[in-house]
Amino acid sequence: MANNMDTIITIDGPSGGGKSTVSRMLAAALGYTYLDTGAMYRAVGLQARKQGVDLTDEKQMAAMLDKLDLQLSPGDGDTKVLLAGEDISAAIRSAEMGMVASAVSALPLVRQKLTEIQQQIGAKGRVVAEGRDMGTVVFPKARYKYFLDASAEVRARRRVDQLHEKGEAADYDDILAQIIKRDHDDSTRALAPLKPAADAVLVDSSRMNAQEVVNFILDQLAKK
Ligand code: C5P
Repeated sequence: MANNMDTIITIDGPSGGGKSTVSRMLAAALGYTYLDTGAMYRAVGLQARKQGVDLTDEKQMAAMLDKLDLQLSPGDGDTKVLLAGEDISAAIRSAEMGMVASAVSALPLVRQKLTEIQQQIGAKGRVVAEGRDMGTVVFPKARYKYFLDASAEVRARRRVDQLHEKGEAADYDDILAQIIKRDHDDSTRALAPLKPAADAVLVDSSRMNAQEVVNFILDQLAKK
């Protein structure tokens, strides 16, 4: 039997680099499962906020994580996320929940729990795993690793356009400041910081659209 790590593709990078669109399209093209790990951190952030859990209290956090009832399934666009049966797909997508997710994602207990779940999902192979630490921590033995980046300004512009498309108000300067802060927090945290795996292929998507990035990756897979 082929090693399952041969059919795991990791896509890491900062927020707004186009990871989600590229990962979803790539998974669809290959018939693989799309694993949206950012959605998992967002869901844990929402759960903590709903229950008023003190993030600095390990006991409270452990109790909450023990009961975590999270289900992910492919949606039309974004991944569909159920928390204890409730559809929270829309609620977790705000910029604010991105910041809350970033805060909970620095906690060792949270990372441990979600890493375990992600590795279980990946164990069967045929997965496109998207996040910050897929190639470095969760699937260090994955055969194909990519790190997708673009300038903070390009990423902020894309994010503003996305929010406008959804009919939401968005201020470019606020979004840019949030992106810069989140990148900084994600890359300087002690645990599983955002960084390319040593064996990841770096892709700068500043001047490539999602389809071009997908084609580039598919080309590489075909050659290997
Ligand atoms: O990718 P997305 O913006 O949905 O992720 C939300 C937050 O979750 C990130 O800013 C990051 O702090 C955290 N995250 C993480 N590790 C992952 C995926 C997301 O720390 N594998």
